[in-house]
Amino acid sequence: MKKYIALLSVIMIIFSTSTSFAKVKVVTTLSDLNAIVKEVGGDKVDSMHLAKPSDDPHQIEPKPTFLRNLSKADLLFLVGMDLEIWLQPLIDSSHNMKIQKGQNGYVDCSTVISPKEVPTTRVTPELGDVHPLGNPHYWLDPNNAILIAELAYKKLSQVDSQNEKYYAENFSKFKNAVEERIITWKNQIGSVPNKKIVCQHSSWIYFTDFTGLEIVGYVESRPGIPPTAKEIMTLTNLMNDKGCKNIISESYQNKKFPNMVASKIQGKVISLPASTGAVKGTETYIQFIDYLINKLTEELK
Ligand SMILES: [Zn+2]
Repeated sequence: MKKYIALLSVIMIIFSTSTSFAKVKVVTTLSDLNAIVKEVGGDKVDSMHLAKPSDDPHQIEPKPTFLRNLSKADLLFLVGMDLEIWLQPLIDSSHNMKIQKGQNGYVDCSTVISPKEVPTTRVTPELGDVHPLGNPHYWLDPNNAILIAELAYKKLSQVDSQNEKYYAENFSKFKNAVEERIITWKNQIGSVPNKKIVCQHSSWIYFTDFTGLEIVGYVESRPGIPPTAKEIMTLTNLMNDKGCKNIISESYQNKKFPNMVASKIQGKVISLPASTGAVKGTETYIQFIDYLINKLTEELK
C-alpha cells in the first residue's frame, strides 16, 4: 500500500510539473493588465505582475525577482507611453529574446487604445513631467480594458494556438460582463449631484471621460511636479468660482498638497486606489471599477 501511495505521488508530481510547463508564462507590469490577462488566459496561463497595486506606477523600484520572472516570460504586457521608465534595463538584462522590443512577446497595450493628452511640444521626464508621450492611465476606462483583453486574446492565441477557442470564449465572456456593467456604472455615477472634481495627478482623464465627471483643475502643476504657493492660490480661487469642493488623490500619493488645498476651501480629499487589487476585494478588474464608482457615488455629494 505504501509503495502504491509513493508511486501515485510521483505520478502526481510529474503530471503537475508537465501541466505547469504547458502554461503560457505572462508577466505584466501593472496589476490591472494582469487582472485582464487572467480573465482571458484562465487556467492556461501563468500570469503575474511586477509592480504592487499600491505602488506609484511612475516610480517602481526593480527587485531581483523582476528579472527572474522576465527571463522566463513568453509574453510581457506593459502600459507603454513611457510610464515604465524602469522597465527597459530589466528587459535588456533578462536576455529573453521573446520579450525584446519588436518581438511578438513584447506587448505594448497603448498600441490598441486612443491616447489622450499627447503633448504637442517636447516634454521629457528629465524636465519633471512624467507623461512625456501623453497620458498613460488608460486602463481606468473600461472600454480600454475590453481592447486590452482583445489584445491578450490575440497574443495568447499566437503563442498557444491550440487553445485559441478557449481564449476567444473567455474574451467574449469578459467583454460581455464589462459591457453589462458599463450601463450600471454610468447610471450610478449619473446620479451624482456635483460632478466637478480637482485631481492631484492626471490619472483620471480616461475615467472622467468615461463617467462624465468634470475635472476643473489639478493640484500638480504638471504631471509629477508639485505646485507652487501661487498655483495653490489660483487653484483654490478656481474651485471657489466653480463650486468644486472635492479633490481626488491616488492612494499612493503624499496628501500634503491636496490637504493644503482642501483646508483653504473647506473641501475634502477623496483617496482612491489607482490600480486593481490596491484595496482588498478589488482583485478583478470589474470589482476594481465597482469600487471606484461606489466610493465616488458615496463621496461626491
Ligand atoms: Zn501619471
